[in-house]
Amino acid sequence: MATVTENLHSALHARHQAVMPDWLATYYSEPIEITHGQGRHVWDAEGNRYLDFFGGILTTMTAHALPEVTAAITEQAGKILHSSTLYLSRQTVDLAERIARLSGIPDARVFFTTSGTEANDTALLLATAYRGSNQVLALRNSYHGRSFTSIGITGNSAWSPTSLSPLQTLYVHGGVRSRGPYAHLDDAAFTAACVEDLEDILGQANGSVAALIAEPIQGVGGFTSGPDGLLAAFKRVLDRHGILWITDEVQTGWGRTGDHFWGWQAHDQAGPPDILTFAKGIGNGMSMGGVVARAEVMNCLTANSISTFGGSPITTAGALANLTYLVDHDLQGNARRVGGLLKSRLEAISAALPIVREVRGRGLMLGLELVEPDTGEPSAQAASLVLEAAREYGLLIGKGGRAGNALRIAPPLTLSVAEAEEGASALADALRQTQDKLA
Ligand code: PLP
Repeated sequence: MATVTENLHSALHARHQAVMPDWLATYYSEPIEITHGQGRHVWDAEGNRYLDFFGGILTTMTAHALPEVTAAITEQAGKILHSSTLYLSRQTVDLAERIARLSGIPDARVFFTTSGTEANDTALLLATAYRGSNQVLALRNSYHGRSFTSIGITGNSAWSPTSLSPLQTLYVHGGVRSRGPYAHLDDAAFTAACVEDLEDILGQANGSVAALIAEPIQGVGGFTSGPDGLLAAFKRVLDRHGILWITDEVQTGWGRTGDHFWGWQAHDQAGPPDILTFAKGIGNGMSMGGVVARAEVMNCLTANSISTFGGSPITTAGALANLTYLVDHDLQGNARRVGGLLKSRLEAISAALPIVREVRGRGLMLGLELVEPDTGEPSAQAASLVLEAAREYGLLIGKGGRAGNALRIAPPLTLSVAEAEEGASALADALRQTQDKLA
């Protein structure tokens, strides 16, 4: 019987025609034209099938074409697409209640947006209004969106074409464990050094600071994080100064990290955050985001605040069905189990490959840091070559990282053990091929 790897080799994909015309700004120079998806797989215009190890962009949280979500959207589409979000629809209220209860924030209020960027903008608006200050703290190597405000506080300059932010941002260490000045320290000493850095920054800040915004695991930054408990240690300092903690859960929410429903819960020793932002997976591919905050903070939004499409009946119908499926089928537990197996498998594969410096992450949010095999220097070229090779083996993955040298693996949370094995085999081949090419 043919092995999984042999099957993948025999199904090497046809070279794709570049379908994108000059007048569309695209991320990849030769993007694939995707026509449809089912479960954990998608198909291109030439009929090639791919295992989607990036879940869209962490947007397909449960599965592609999940019947429950499709039915909810279709039923709502037959009734009304949009009236006005000034009025109510039943599922919008129900979804807000569920998210408020799940958030862990006491006396929580929800405001729906259409994206993660808009959610973070709203969170920053709330925090700066509440505190009467336009200074914010962010982690180095962070990414929070692409509006003028959120790109302005993003700590990764590769994503930031301008530094003309309306906010003044102070950057703190703590988002990257295995590189930087504190990399050689153990977890406790690393945490202490980052706290000292925070105290030092606050000591030099000119006037009050509104908030710290942080991703519990940095997404675009390459699935990196500080040790568990670091943000709790930060929160103890923030609390002394009355500074708010905004947790950006755009990538880490909804059980993706396996151990916790939200990324912040790996840091819950000092209590919940003041503000939580979400997007991506909740809509299973539809444009949906939002903010959760304590009522007294949320009340800083004036009565005139409205997002025309945020919380529209069609997106909330789909999102509610998606969230219900996720909880009822314990997909957080599946992310923990299958993600744990996948991580072990990737570690075993990588042990024999000098091109891989580190396998990191948790649940179904796993990253591989790639380096030049000879020098150990970060290699963006290696990441691009692996992405390209993986595609030929029928596997879609993402990349990121400060130097563009991290591979990002974040499949839909329904991933089976067999599919994890299928993806790991294809990735192993792509890594070996790239290493040989670079040697
Ligand atoms: N926050 C984080 C952590 C993200 O990863 C992203 C997008 O990748 C955003 C915010 C922005 O979300 P969106 O692209 O939906 O505006």
